[in-house]
Amino acid sequence: MTKRIFRSIFCVSALVLVAGLVLMLGVLYPYFNDQLEKELDREAHYLALVVESEGVDGLSELAMTEERITLVTADGEVLYDNQADESSMDNHLNREEIQEALSSGDGYAIRRSQTLAEETVYYALRLSNGQVLRVSSTQYSLLAILFSLLQPLIWIFLLLLLLSGLFAARASKKIVAPINRLNLEHPEENQAYEEISPLLTKILQQQKTIRAQLAEAKRQQQNFALITENMSEGLLVIGSQTEVLSYNHSACRLLRVSDHPDCSSVLSWNRSEPFRLGVNKALQGEAYTEVLTLSGERPTAPDDAQYLRLTVSPVLQNDRPAGAVLLLVDVTEKQQREQLRREFTANVSHELKTPLTSISGYAEIIQNGLVQPQDIPEFAGRIFAESQRLITLVGDIIKISQLDEGALPCDSEEIDLSALLHEVADSLQAAADKQQVVLSVKGEHLSMRAVKPILHEILYNLCDNAIKYNRSGGAVTLSAEEKNGSLLLTVSDTGVGIAPEYQSRIFERFYRVDKSHSQEIGGTGLGLSIVKHGAAFLGATLHMTSQVDKGTTFTLEWPASRPIDSSSSPS
Ligand code: ADP
Repeated sequence: MTKRIFRSIFCVSALVLVAGLVLMLGVLYPYFNDQLEKELDREAHYLALVVESEGVDGLSELAMTEERITLVTADGEVLYDNQADESSMDNHLNREEIQEALSSGDGYAIRRSQTLAEETVYYALRLSNGQVLRVSSTQYSLLAILFSLLQPLIWIFLLLLLLSGLFAARASKKIVAPINRLNLEHPEENQAYEEISPLLTKILQQQKTIRAQLAEAKRQQQNFALITENMSEGLLVIGSQTEVLSYNHSACRLLRVSDHPDCSSVLSWNRSEPFRLGVNKALQGEAYTEVLTLSGERPTAPDDAQYLRLTVSPVLQNDRPAGAVLLLVDVTEKQQREQLRREFTANVSHELKTPLTSISGYAEIIQNGLVQPQDIPEFAGRIFAESQRLITLVGDIIKISQLDEGALPCDSEEIDLSALLHEVADSLQAAADKQQVVLSVKGEHLSMRAVKPILHEILYNLCDNAIKYNRSGGAVTLSAEEKNGSLLLTVSDTGVGIAPEYQSRIFERFYRVDKSHSQEIGGTGLGLSIVKHGAAFLGATLHMTSQVDKGTTFTLEWPASRPIDSSSSPS
């Protein structure tokens, strides 16, 4: 801006200088011309007096004059000329000034020389005797004057240009300085030039509008962030080049990327084929839904896998895809439940089919009369045993379904744990005797509030297993104790133990370490699954330690924060 103002001032000054010079010359030149004419007029009248009184000789005596003096007869013949030989001069009758003087008494004429550098001004005066006295003087033409003054003029012009340059520089800086000092943050506080106040007012209005719009945009963004950041679903907004425009924390968590991920392409967030396909489809304008499988910490264990339902919707602008919105929902639990349900149905069918087939087979043999009468009790016994197995199995299935659906009685009551342990031990005493296993209960007199049928079921299953998977002469101990504020219920045995590779699987439904042995002793494969679910239902943590051929210990632990009613006295 300073430069532009400088240029403008400088150009105007230069123009004014040139124009001033031209005008001055234009004014001065006619002035000098006029002066010259007046001088010639005066001199001619003076010389006329001389000629009238002394004749031509009087002129000769005045020959020192600078002007040229010519005396011409009424016929145009030159009688006298102070600068030329009159005899060699041609007739002057046709001269403009002579003719004018002859007709009107005096006459002027200006004639330029051939070089145009000089011009001669003539003044002719008719004398009383009819002769004409002409006085002339030569002066430089305007061009000649200009030319002769060129050098000083150039110097003056350059000097003035320099001065106007300096003036322009100072003036432009002075003009711009207040503008540079303008505080646009607070336009209303400026007092620079009156002329720019409308501009400052406009800036102030616009600032207010921008501030209001910014505040609104910020508010909307905060609302959006608040909503998206509290969503458990992952949300991603991408542009047409797959660049990530917006994302929430859940999206990073679900796709297992860092909190500051690479946003240049969403495809780097998950390299699976369905994800890439979904993104590409959305960017072509199609919606897409697919379940992504993310392998777990242990890729070999399918149970560790995480399942995400990906829903991709295109974002259209003028009917053309301009980006996409990706929604990720963790459906691992649902997927696992589905899987469990499928496995459970398959297992149940299989487990039910085996005893039913046996029952049906025995019955058919008896029906066909293929069994000797004395063998019928044995066959009936087998049918009875298989039916018992079926009843146990169906009972376990019902219990596990109830635990799954939360359809169990949930009325808590005060339970005397010692009494409960004795109750469980008593109900399994016969089985323990049969297996020649010593069953004992020890520990403190403790009580707690819990759902008694569920706690009974858990302890019964653990104790039942401890007897079943024991050896003759072995021992099973049930105990209740309080340790560091936590309440512990323990069922330990000196049985066969469980090898480390099976320990993580024994809580799965229908899982049995030794299937044939388990079936032989009446196991359904559901006992520990019921224990696991029951413990979770009662808010207890289930621990297990086991060593092959040494024995197994299952512990239910209620944390210290749980209020415990105890009336301790050692048993
Ligand atoms: P089951 O009805 O077959 O006993 P469970 O779910 O109760 O089914 O137990 C699963 C498997 O865990 C059993 O088949 C058995 O191999 C093993 N198991 C359970 N408890 C014990 C234990 N106390 N000692 C050794 N093995 C056990």
